[in-house]
Amino acid sequence: MTGPRDTLNRPLKNLRLSVTDRCNLRCAYCMPEEEYAWLARPDVLSFEEIDFLVDRFGALGVDTLRITGGEPLVRKDLPVLLALLAKKPWLKDVALTTNGVLLGEQAQALRDAGLHRLTVSLDTLQPDRFRALTRRDSHGAVMAGIAEAVRVGFSGGLKLDAVVLRGVNDDELVPLLDFAASVNAELRFIEYMDVGGATRWRREDVVSRAEMLQQLSKQLGAIEALAGRGAAPAERFRLPDGRTFGVIASTTQPFCRSCDRARVTADGTFFTCLYASAGLDLKAALRRGDDAQTIEAALRSRWSSRSDRGAEQRLALRDRGPLASAAELKGAPHLEMHTRGG
Ligand code: SAM
Ligand code: SF4
Ligand code: SF4
Repeated sequence: MTGPRDTLNRPLKNLRLSVTDRCNLRCAYCMPEEEYAWLARPDVLSFEEIDFLVDRFGALGVDTLRITGGEPLVRKDLPVLLALLAKKPWLKDVALTTNGVLLGEQAQALRDAGLHRLTVSLDTLQPDRFRALTRRDSHGAVMAGIAEAVRVGFSGGLKLDAVVLRGVNDDELVPLLDFAASVNAELRFIEYMDVGGATRWRREDVVSRAEMLQQLSKQLGAIEALAGRGAAPAERFRLPDGRTFGVIASTTQPFCRSCDRARVTADGTFFTCLYASAGLDLKAALRRGDDAQTIEAALRSRWSSRSDRGAEQRLALRDRGPLASAAELKGAPHLEMHTRGG
């Protein structure tokens, strides 16, 4: 059977699977508050439940999987799960996004488990800045984690993602590019997004793609846009010296029209958009014993009725502020970026 198309004719190809909502950092653009409402531990899916669900998504056409969080490496025995997932022959690509803090200890095990591609979030090369941005003193651990990932080597390569915030790290575009080149990684600059969790988001703090390109071309020369983005969120560019980099312009140039991504939270809630207000409770379906066919039918029906274009709708707003207030998030952990996965 062919996979479903949503109401904008978008297929379901890409699954972002959050394995935990917990994190060992407190990034200002994701988790700025002092306290959080966490998912209840018994609600978090077991590896067996995740494995079963991933197969249901595979039956609908998903062929690319990204493991995320929270911080996925704080999930106990993650390489065991990866080994289960990476051996599925229909999965073209299994990637993971991490803050890198625990990568020094785990990179080898992740690669041995069959992980193809790794993305490490790295917003600054300055330890003091890192501490101010994340409220944790872990910059050295992240840098050591990246070094270990380079030593181990991933077949699909290494990417570094940097969220660019005005007045915080917008003077580090070139140093970050230089660092990425030194570890043979491709860097992607991410625009600051007004997602759940970004309770301090202000339009003025967003450094737009246009601004980043202008700044980089001033410092490094003419930048060439590369074709062939497909459904990928990042647009890619080439510098005069041949180095390439990406920009994810979700805030000022959303790419909803080609979005083929679904998200499943650590407690098995299925969201069809990063901004969606409601999700489908797959944990309940699993735990009441629904069979494979029933769950696939539910996913198919949900995707077929999907009309989400959250970032485009946010862009159209005149008065754009945070998506949700800290008070609203207290009672709704599913709205959080650290629950939904980036
Ligand atoms: N903890 C892991 C990490 O930080 O890489 C994985 C989960 S994190 C939610 C995934 C990505 O979302 C990270 O690259 C992070 O920088 C990004 N992110 C979080 N909040 C964001 C925001 N308000 N705007 C843009 N990107 C954001
Ligand atoms: Fe930072 Fe990722 Fe943790 Fe959010 S989930 S606080 S982006 S490390
Ligand atoms: Fe896809 Fe929603 Fe992001 Fe648009 S806002 S790209 S529809 S997840």
